Amino acid sequence: RKRDGKNGAQVYDPSMTDKTRRRAEIEDFIEAGLANDWLDAYFQPLINLTTGQIVGFEALLRLIHPTRGVLPPAEIISVAEDTGSIIRIGNRMLDKAVAHFARMVKDQDLPDAYVAINFSSLQIEPGLPARLATVIERHGIRPDALVVEITEAVLMQDNPEVSQILGQIRKYGCRLALDDFGTGYSSLSYLNRFPVDIIKVDQSFIRALTAGGEVYDKSRMLVEGIATISHKMACTVIAEGIETQEQWRILLEMGVDCGQGYLFSRPLPAHELEALMQSDIVH
Ligand code: C2E
Ligand code: CA
Ligand code: CA
Ligand code: CA
Repeated sequence: RKRDGKNGAQVYDPSMTDKTRRRAEIEDFIEAGLANDWLDAYFQPLINLTTGQIVGFEALLRLIHPTRGVLPPAEIISVAEDTGSIIRIGNRMLDKAVAHFARMVKDQDLPDAYVAINFSSLQIEPGLPARLATVIERHGIRPDALVVEITEAVLMQDNPEVSQILGQIRKYGCRLALDDFGTGYSSLSYLNRFPVDIIKVDQSFIRALTAGGEVYDKSRMLVEGIATISHKMACTVIAEGIETQEQWRILLEMGVDCGQGYLFSRPLPAHELEALMQSDIVH
């Protein structure tokens, strides 16, 4: 089958046309975004569920298109992983996120806060530890102020090189977070094999906590179990996607350490988040 010929695909498979066209459009956005500096890091605060204080921020990729507005990352990341442009996007994102973060914590006087940045499995390559060190030194933050968020997909590769790279990153002083925990095939087995510092419980579990009925009970047990195991392994537990006070209360009862979600704040441009913090809405 003809892959890159848009017109060819159109003749044979109309549904393919839309996908192909959309994909080409996203590829154009990515290249234009890299060339014109449309990529930026938005920030969502990570909250200590006991104190309500900010412990850190997750940096989330946004492509700010001059006419299309803000494009969310999911589609961009998946296209970029296919074409390989994820490496350039990831490098750009890393620098932007740490630059904003360094300024933000200085201005807001948050000396202990950290920034969590998402890394695609393709980015876990031998040059990464040195790249992280360069960016950290350039912006003058502590190594332990940077958290590398990876998903099971990274660990699933079962590549000794990957564990070596992750080991180097931790040895340098950065921390590792396992993202979307509980959504993969064998999340628990990875806890055994890879040293991670932070476990992020996927938002699907958090949503189910207040869904009612049997789902509620099972999710409750699962989240509680994850929290217990994580603590036994000396990991911090973060719940994703907290939208209600009730979810906050339940998670706190279960011993979950930290959380993020629309209840506290949506992901925002650094300057908007700073304005919010000044007005004490988030704090
Ligand atoms: P993620 O790492 O699991 O990020 C959390 C996602 O949940 C974010 O979506 C965030 O906006 C959303 N979220 C936070 N709180 C709530 C809530 O209370 N309710 C709901 N419904 N959603 C909430 P976003 O920003 O669209 O990012 C989607 C995914 O794209 C991320 O999921 C991550 O997998 C990927 N991603 C984002 N930025 C990057 C990046 O710089 N590099 C890589 N490789 N992936 C990224
Ligand atoms: Ca994440
Ligand atoms: Ca996640
Ligand atoms: Ca995700």
